[in-house]
Order: sequence, then structure tokens, then C-alpha cells
Amino acid sequence: MNGTPQYAPVVAHPYALTGTEYDPGRAAGSVAGGDASYGRVVVPGEVDVSHGAILYLEGVTVSFDGFRALNDLNLSVDDGELRCIIGPNGAGKTTMMDVITGKTRPDAGTVYFGQTIDLTRLNEVAIAHAGIGRKFQKPTVFENLTVFENLELALKADKRARASLLAKLDGEQRDRIDAVLATIKLADAAHGPAGRLSHGQKQWLEIGMLLAQEPRVLLLDEPVAGMTDQETAETAELFLSLKGKHTLIVVEQDMDFINTIAGTVTVLHEGHVLAEGDMATVQNDPRVVEVYLGR
Ligand code: ADP
Ligand code: MG
Repeated sequence: MNGTPQYAPVVAHPYALTGTEYDPGRAAGSVAGGDASYGRVVVPGEVDVSHGAILYLEGVTVSFDGFRALNDLNLSVDDGELRCIIGPNGAGKTTMMDVITGKTRPDAGTVYFGQTIDLTRLNEVAIAHAGIGRKFQKPTVFENLTVFENLELALKADKRARASLLAKLDGEQRDRIDAVLATIKLADAAHGPAGRLSHGQKQWLEIGMLLAQEPRVLLLDEPVAGMTDQETAETAELFLSLKGKHTLIVVEQDMDFINTIAGTVTVLHEGHVLAEGDMATVQNDPRVVEVYLGR
């Protein structure tokens, strides 16, 4: 394993305010502008989706020690879609998210955000600021802060908001937080500590923290793991309500949940798309039954 990247989950919050990330020079809405090797200036909202696709991966290959976690992966996701990704353990689902978010560089292939933004040329921070948000499996809310304060921090971590951490929220920002609280059904819990929320509610808060930054694309890796049936059902409703306003890419093992929310389902196997289509098509595909559903 010498010289290979450590296989360890990222624990840093995608919008954590670390000293190295905070760059007031980028606060005006452009990202990656200060780095010569990332010459493109990406302005959120200027993602060109005139051809329909908001994410387009072609021939993406990622090797770890010669093992291909992704092997010539091709994927196209339309703007506003709710795409479900399923597949056995080790199929490459998380690695695919790592590539889209810039955590892992592909050895080969192209990854486009809209028509013009080549994500393989942007770093993780720039990709997040360009409008691709990711929710990790483990909730990382600040337990001692209130639900509202968690959302406030997330909003202020968004460089486009031009807010400083110490500045008071303006009316528009309060409205944005109130709207997110309503969406994630935590308005009643807004002024209590986040630590007192149930597991499911913490997951919703974390999704709300992403929504506060108004992402175009949301990547969600196993969002209902550990949730009660009731929380899972409410999460399905939440995702259906977000569809259209955002593009959602959801990796999940819970097939009942997938069944409730699915439009197009992509089945990954050995780093490659095995099948794609609506739930019925995919469920009846003998190759899918063989490698995944039949187990
Ligand atoms: P999934 O999310 O579909 O379960 P992953 O994308 O996590 O699959 O992993 C795909 C394969 O790549 C697995 O065999 C995993 O062990 C391997 N893998 C993922 N990341 C790394 C890494 N950083 N180093 C070595 N192997 C890795
Ligand atoms: Mg995974």
C-alpha cells in the first residue's frame, strides 16, 4: 500500500470553516479565481444545462493499487432529477461521489458540471462553492448549538453570502433559514440544542445545512441508514419535495425507500453501470437479480 492514498473517510465537514479555506477574496461569488492552476471562474447559477444534463461522467476510471474501484463509468444526470444509485457493497458508489466532489481524482475520464465546467480541474472547496453539496453518512451537526445556529453557521460558511461570522443576519438570511426549517420540518425545534434531536432529525438538519447554501446538486450517501420507518417515510417526502428545485443523487441500500422515491435507477457493479431505467425495468433485469437483488 506504499504511496497509495489512505482509505479513510473524510471527517472534515464539507463547509467547515478552516483557516485555509476562508478566503474573503473569493466572497464575491467566484470560486477558484485565486489559484492559477484552477483558472476557470465558476459562478453558481451559471451552470449551462441547455442540453439537459447537469452532471456528465464519461469513461471515469479510478484505480487503487491496480484495483479498479471505478471502471469506465458513464453516467448522465438531468437537471432537477432525483437519481437513485444502487449496487452491492464495493460497487464504487461512494468512490463515484468522491470523484464528483473532487475528493478523488480519476485516472481517466471526464466529469462535467453542466456543459462547460470540468470538475476534474477544480478542488473540493471550489466544487462545493460551484453548487455541489454532499451529505456524508455520519451527521456532523454541532450538538451544543441550536438547530437555528447550525443553519446560521452553514449559511455564513457560504462564501456567496458575503456574511462574516460575527455579523448579524439580515432579513433575507433569516427568511432563508426559516424556509429551510420549514422544509426539513424542524421549525418547532429551531431554538433547542441540536444534540437533543433524534438521529433522523439530525440527518435532516444536516441536509438543511446544505440547503442553506442553495446547492444545484445534492449528493446523499445512504441517507436513511439507521432511521426509523417513520423517519424514512418523511425523508422520502422531503426528497420528493426537493426534486426539481435541486438535482438529487441518492445512494441507498433500502429498496423500499428507493421504490418510493425512484425515477431513474442506476445499478453499479464493479465500478461500471450494469443497468439503468425505471424501478420495474431494473428489478426485472436478470443481471441485476444475479449480482444484487437476488441475494
Ligand atoms: P460502495 O460505496 O459501492 O460500497 P466504494 O466506492 O466505497 O463502494 O468502494 C469501491 C471499492 O474500492 C471497494 O473495493 C473499496 O474497498 C475500494 N476503495 C475505495 N476507496 C479506496 C481507497 N481510498 N483506497 C483503496 N481502496 C479503496
Ligand atoms: Mg459506500
